[in-house]
Amino acid sequence: MSSKEFDVIVVGAGPAGVSAAKSSAATGARTLLLEKNPAIMALKPCGQAVSRQTLKTAGVDPEIPGLILNEVHALVYAPNMKCVQIGENGYLINKTILLQEIAAQAAELGAEIHVHEEFLDLKRVNGKFLVKTSRNTYSASVIIGADGYNSRVARRLGVSERSELIPTLQYLLAGRSSGVSDAIRIYLGNKIAPKGYAWIFPITNKLVEVGIGVRDAPIKPYIDNFIKMFSREFGKAQIIDRRGAPVPVGGVIREYVLDGAILIGDAAGMVIPLTGGGIHSSIAAGLAAGKVAGEAASEDVSRERLREFDEEYAPWLNRIRRSLKVLRALERLSDDDLNQLAEVLEDRDVVDLANGLDIARVAKKLLVHPILATRLARYLL
Ligand SMILES: Cc1cc2nc3c(=O)[nH]c(=O)nc-3n(C[C@H](O)[C@H](O)[C@H](O)COP(=O)(O)OP(=O)(O)OC[C@H]3O[C@@H](n4cnc5c(N)ncnc54)[C@H](O)[C@@H]3O)c2cc1C
Repeated sequence: MSSKEFDVIVVGAGPAGVSAAKSSAATGARTLLLEKNPAIMALKPCGQAVSRQTLKTAGVDPEIPGLILNEVHALVYAPNMKCVQIGENGYLINKTILLQEIAAQAAELGAEIHVHEEFLDLKRVNGKFLVKTSRNTYSASVIIGADGYNSRVARRLGVSERSELIPTLQYLLAGRSSGVSDAIRIYLGNKIAPKGYAWIFPITNKLVEVGIGVRDAPIKPYIDNFIKMFSREFGKAQIIDRRGAPVPVGGVIREYVLDGAILIGDAAGMVIPLTGGGIHSSIAAGLAAGKVAGEAASEDVSRERLREFDEEYAPWLNRIRRSLKVLRALERLSDDDLNQLAEVLEDRDVVDLANGLDIARVAKKLLVHPILATRLARYLL
């Protein structure tokens, strides 16, 4: 039986996949984007918080109607409730509109998009992939696995390694009593969220998102307790959406580039470990992978050639590595240590640590601190 031929098949239309389809199609490669759900939509729960730079990277105009739900700044709270205010503004977005806009750009560049079509299996035949879906069989020179933390593409390629996952639970609360706020609030501490954090994101004057990620502990009691802490604020609010999903925060897996294949986004652990933010890093990974795959497809799709992805994505690989280092260091700190940290860190320091930017600068600053020098600074350096 003959099968329809593509240069590049991208599996999964999350931030990574739509971006990969766009940049692959931009090279002129015959590109197919497969999404198992009936729509390109943000069905998986997500806080939808992004930096301004995320939209620039994605090539998406912030003025698109409905895209920006709220323009926000962040407050990060230590266990004793001392807070560090982050100067940089960002957005709470409607992620569905972001995904659909990037998908529309991919379509304009010639990508074929099939929703409600699930990737099932693949096999290599004469140097190409035969890709079996719930509806058809296709051939492709390169496959890009952008199918999330439980990637079937990874499994079918024989990649068993998974990035460490943190379970999260997020509630959308309706009818809260306080006025609209422009601050997203992030709460740290072993009593509030062991080895994780809790968040409150104001969506509108009536809707607020409350979420938590914890490791090595049952999650439900922690979110219930967290909501109780803010009972005055949330007293009459009702839960209208209650969903959870894991976030890969253990860093990038070792084998994400193979002969004829690249794994990206959550499927490869391409999330900033300390923040759990993966929209920006997944979009950047998608753009890099699509470009490399699209250019290589008609020439050479060996692992060596596809490793050009590493050069394209190098700044993000470094950020993820450094942020993981900070996460591992912070995991060892007590609530008292975290309180001390909040006394000495300024907003730029928090941004650099959380995003794996200039962590050496912050570590040098902490070297003069009597306790944090040994508990944190030396480890970071
Ligand atoms: C509760 C929560 C809150 C978060 N908050 C934020 C935040 O505020 N900011 C931020 O930057 N990040 C946040 N993240 C992380 C962010 O959501 C992810 O890192 C990001 O969506 C990863 O993008 P992706 O494209 O790799 O994967 P996904 O978004 O998971 O997309 C994968 C896609 O593949 C599809 N798929 C899966 N299997 C198949 C198959 N077999 N065939 C076809 N299609 C398939 C899925 O349906 C899905 O559409 C949060 C995550 C969670 C769980």
